Amino acid sequence: MARRRQLYEGKAKVLFEGPEPGTVVQYFKDDATAFNNEKQGVITGKGVLNNRISEHLMTGLNGVGVPTHFIRRLNMREQLVRDVEIVPIEVVVRNVAAGSLSRRLGIPEGTILPRAIVEYYLKSDELNDPLITEEHILAFGWASQQDLDDMVQLAVRTNDFLSGLFQGIGLKLVDFKLEFGRQYEDEHMRIVLADEISPDSCRLWDMTTNEKLDKDRFRRDMGDVEDAYREVARRLGILPESDVQDIQDAQGPREVR
Ligand code: UDP
Repeated sequence: MARRRQLYEGKAKVLFEGPEPGTVVQYFKDDATAFNNEKQGVITGKGVLNNRISEHLMTGLNGVGVPTHFIRRLNMREQLVRDVEIVPIEVVVRNVAAGSLSRRLGIPEGTILPRAIVEYYLKSDELNDPLITEEHILAFGWASQQDLDDMVQLAVRTNDFLSGLFQGIGLKLVDFKLEFGRQYEDEHMRIVLADEISPDSCRLWDMTTNEKLDKDRFRRDMGDVEDAYREVARRLGILPESDVQDIQDAQGPREVR
């Protein structure tokens, strides 16, 4: 079989040319990075879990009319997505103060925000993904006013949908990061949700204990990172017992701790 052409390798994923024009294969790695690559590690089984979790969340969003790049999952670590032109902006939606918002503004972590807050960051490793405003985005042409309006509207709808979904399984959606792409079809362009939605890109706290079930366990060296990701998948109902074995098989033997 001919080897697929690799298009791009990121921190947590590799993109390959898809089987049909206009498609891309997203391969989910176990690699984890934080603090703009300063901290690097491997979370065994993460790629398999994030592939599943992102499939589940993107499919749910498609079902309520939020357009996404997701087409279908291909196997344990790969999914087929539409080829889009990524908008070079990360959109963060926050419901509860945490992370950089707490650090920058001195709002204690865990403070419920009076309203959901939407922030923009420029995707730039060299500049450490700086916080930017709408003025910067429009002045420097990173997105048009229409793109931005669409992105904010989709981000707010995504927040409503995901907050409810996670609440239903006892998890608080503290904040999350979204990426968007421009999908071209004939003469038309539309903005769709791209990248992934997973515990790598969301903060998820247990509703009653506030236990963190997301990448902060890796960032803050809290341990049990893989177990936390698996717990999210389990609560979403996408980890039947038989699949636990599959994940282990896809990984080789699990470390004994
Ligand atoms: N986030 C992300 N990728 C990034 C930066 C942030 O997925 O490059 C997510 C992060 O997991 C959290 C939210 O965006 O759910 C807000 O992150 P924050 O700005 O608080 O940054 P951090 O505390 O991670 O530096």
